[in-house]
Amino acid sequence: MSQFEYDLFVIGGGSGGVRAARIAAEHGARVGLAEEYRMGGTCVIRGCVPKKLMVYASGYPGHVGDAREYGWDVRLGGFDWAAFRAKMDAELDRLESAYRGNLARSGAAGFDARATLVDPHTVELSDGQRLSAAHILIATGGHPFVPDFPGSDHVMTSNEVFKLDALPESILVVGGGYIACEFAGIFNGLGSKVTQFYRGAQVLRGFDGEARGHIADAMQARGVELHLGTNVMAVTPVEGGYRVKASNGMEQVFEKVLYATGRKPNSAGLGLEAIGVETGRNGEIVVDDYSQTNIPSIYAVGDVTDRVNLTPVAIREGHAFADTVFGGTQRSADHDLIPSAVFTQPELGTVGLSEEAARDAGPIEVYCAAFRPMQSLFAGHDERVLMKLVVCADTRKVLGVHLVGDHAGEMIQTIGIAVKMGATKEDFDRTMAVHPTMAEELVTMKSPVRTA
Ligand code: NDP
Repeated sequence: MSQFEYDLFVIGGGSGGVRAARIAAEHGARVGLAEEYRMGGTCVIRGCVPKKLMVYASGYPGHVGDAREYGWDVRLGGFDWAAFRAKMDAELDRLESAYRGNLARSGAAGFDARATLVDPHTVELSDGQRLSAAHILIATGGHPFVPDFPGSDHVMTSNEVFKLDALPESILVVGGGYIACEFAGIFNGLGSKVTQFYRGAQVLRGFDGEARGHIADAMQARGVELHLGTNVMAVTPVEGGYRVKASNGMEQVFEKVLYATGRKPNSAGLGLEAIGVETGRNGEIVVDDYSQTNIPSIYAVGDVTDRVNLTPVAIREGHAFADTVFGGTQRSADHDLIPSAVFTQPELGTVGLSEEAARDAGPIEVYCAAFRPMQSLFAGHDERVLMKLVVCADTRKVLGVHLVGDHAGEMIQTIGIAVKMGATKEDFDRTMAVHPTMAEELVTMKSPVRTA
């Protein structure tokens, strides 16, 4: 019999922590898990899930307009934010109980409490209870970061955005990353007047340059007022909203100001320093390929490690940890060639290297098509879909695929398999087209638009 009450104690009930707890319990470990807020973590409670529901909600005005172009006698009525929010809240409640149910069914014990570390084998819960464990897994996620400036306490973040009492008439979105660009599209689609400030030269830094430009143009064409090279100087509350002074001299009142300027790991106040768990500059917990910290009994997965901050990655890291420590199979999560989507409007699907990154690594060919897809062309839209392949000139391997357009996220999931398998341009070419689809363009691009 072990000297500890648990074989594993997990701190944090989000995607990574719950997966690790369940798999470890299935491997026969005695598992405890503490969550201080709501089970499901950022993804379920204030991230991917409610965000995607809002993306769907915001798409309907466009669909109704298109339906008219297709001969339907339909008209767009008003949007009932309260009704939508109530339904969204109910859906999150349902998912939270599914998480609780799954955890309980696996045999793990759940604690609705904050847990901190006392020593390498002991946690203390917020009710004062101390529990010992052979292994401790930290899966506490991250939180939105808001820079310090006059009036910074008046802005909201993605934590509050799902709790709005009413849809704002006007909103300023600050930032140029995933969250900022997604919410600019959401509020624009729902009918708010959206202004977006980004401090740099183009939004979505790190993604393929051509795709970034394509999305920024399309977002503006759809109604987002995007100001590049622009930042907030000060925010002051006024009647009906907030007066914002911008670095470009602009001064304007917005009903709401949403900051999406990055996220930071939730590592403070856990007791890490006293035990000597190594953290990085951003507060991220430093781990090896097997998610083990410098203290052998303590592991960490997900956003708190600031590796690749995506739900499926946290899940894989949690699963690999549980298999390694409790399942007798040494496994690490593979962080290479991760397909992902940004739910901007239009959507971005991407896997592998951007043209810029690939060009730095060696000679490449770029295949690219920008065309008006049948469905929206018929409805009278000018917006183009972008499909791009970045190919290694030597090995012929497809190094990167970048798609902008409807269902890009769905498409990139399947293309990601081919790219992960090491498919060459010729593998794409000998695959028969599926007609008539947008995606057929991926297997019919004959000549490179450029080489580099
Ligand atoms: P990102 O890191 O993607 O973007 C942060 C943005 O804020 C950047 O444009 C950055 O500018 C800007 N910024 C940072 N600091 C400041 C500052 N002091 N003043 C003004 N602007 C600033 O973070 P997000 O918050 O958008 O998202 C966090 C993470 O969540 C993402 O990295 C992603 O991993 C995950 N996520 C994934 C989604 C998906 O898969 N669809 C959806 C949402 C989130 P600069 O570029 O100049 O640094």
